[in-house]
Amino acid sequence: MTVTLPPQPFLPFTRPSIDEDTIREVGDVLRSGWLTAGPKCAAFEHALSERFGGRPVRVVSSATAALELALRLCGIGPGDEVITTPLSWVATANVILAVGATPVFVDVDPHTRNIDLDRIEAAVTPRTRALLPVDLAGLPVDRDRLYAIASRHGLRVIEDAAQSFGAHWQGREIGSFGDLISFSFHANKNFTSAEGGCLVLRDEHEAQRFEKLRLQGVIRLPDGGMDVQHWGAKANLTDVAAAIGLGQLRSVDAFTVRRRQLAAQYFAHWPALPGFSLPPPDAAQHGNWHMFQPLLPEPLAARRGDFLAAMKAQGIGVGVHYPAMHLFSMFRARGHAPGDFPVAEDIGARTVTLPLFPAMTDTDVPRVIDAVAAVTALLS
Ligand SMILES: *Cc1c(COP(=O)(O)O)cnc(C)c1O
Repeated sequence: MTVTLPPQPFLPFTRPSIDEDTIREVGDVLRSGWLTAGPKCAAFEHALSERFGGRPVRVVSSATAALELALRLCGIGPGDEVITTPLSWVATANVILAVGATPVFVDVDPHTRNIDLDRIEAAVTPRTRALLPVDLAGLPVDRDRLYAIASRHGLRVIEDAAQSFGAHWQGREIGSFGDLISFSFHANKNFTSAEGGCLVLRDEHEAQRFEKLRLQGVIRLPDGGMDVQHWGAKANLTDVAAAIGLGQLRSVDAFTVRRRQLAAQYFAHWPALPGFSLPPPDAAQHGNWHMFQPLLPEPLAARRGDFLAAMKAQGIGVGVHYPAMHLFSMFRARGHAPGDFPVAEDIGARTVTLPLFPAMTDTDVPRVIDAVAAVTALLS
């Protein structure tokens, strides 16, 4: 006898949750006659600043813009080196190239998958100007050790916290302390404005310099005229996006709670599949579970494309975040080769991102786990 189950809807690896109030508020902006940077952006900055203990916050069109302009704010450019991780979205290194500086990669810690703090100091040279760490999957880099290294060597820190909104280090929220902190509001992040980002700054003086970098370098004069002393980008956010962001800000803490529950379900129900490595479980203490990423065992990892396709055939979307970026053609052309950062290469070759987003139901995690077990048996 064959039993035909009703087809289940496709489960993507992530999906934003936008509530009806937010949709209405976006409609209000569209009807208001003021679409681009205006009162909603100002309200969004104010709300973010309150969240971060009153620190100045400026919203921009993307985290890529926030990071690039943060580097420019620090005066980093040609001849300078910035230390970062090879295991991130390529934006992290692209922004360093964008200002004419050199990304200096340091391998990752096999446990946290974040930049290996034990290896940073060996990479510091007289040209090093800043550290640009990433909180992969929303698990914070050890901020105590990070800032101790930075202060020993007189370096700025630009935190790429694109994935760690709502995460904490030792009870303090990421963004509420530290040097410069960049967040992304891209649709796949823990909270979104469709596209967008922000930079948390140290003081109003830096925030005002950042405002000029954000929009064409323009300084408004009391007589209605303007002046431009330095180049500026075109990187303002829109009020349409800010309305989405303000709506999401009401829900983001509930999102984090739900993400932690779902991650706990993965750990509790994960079957005995030999060779798989689960993400660091201590993430529950500090992280926001931006992603849930087991590492495939060999030889299954060598067939990751088949794994993704077979999961998709089961109705489940799986992502890859990220291949080690120093092996991209652009960085090979700059002299990198396999073997340069073996830990990042190993993780990058084996990682898969399973579905984890707040609207998932309690039956979704078991469904994903069953599919992983079935597909692993099929491909082994
Ligand atoms: C998403 C992401 C970025 C870029 O964010 P955008 O808002 O898309 O520019 C940078 N770094 C990391 C680690 C990211 O995950």
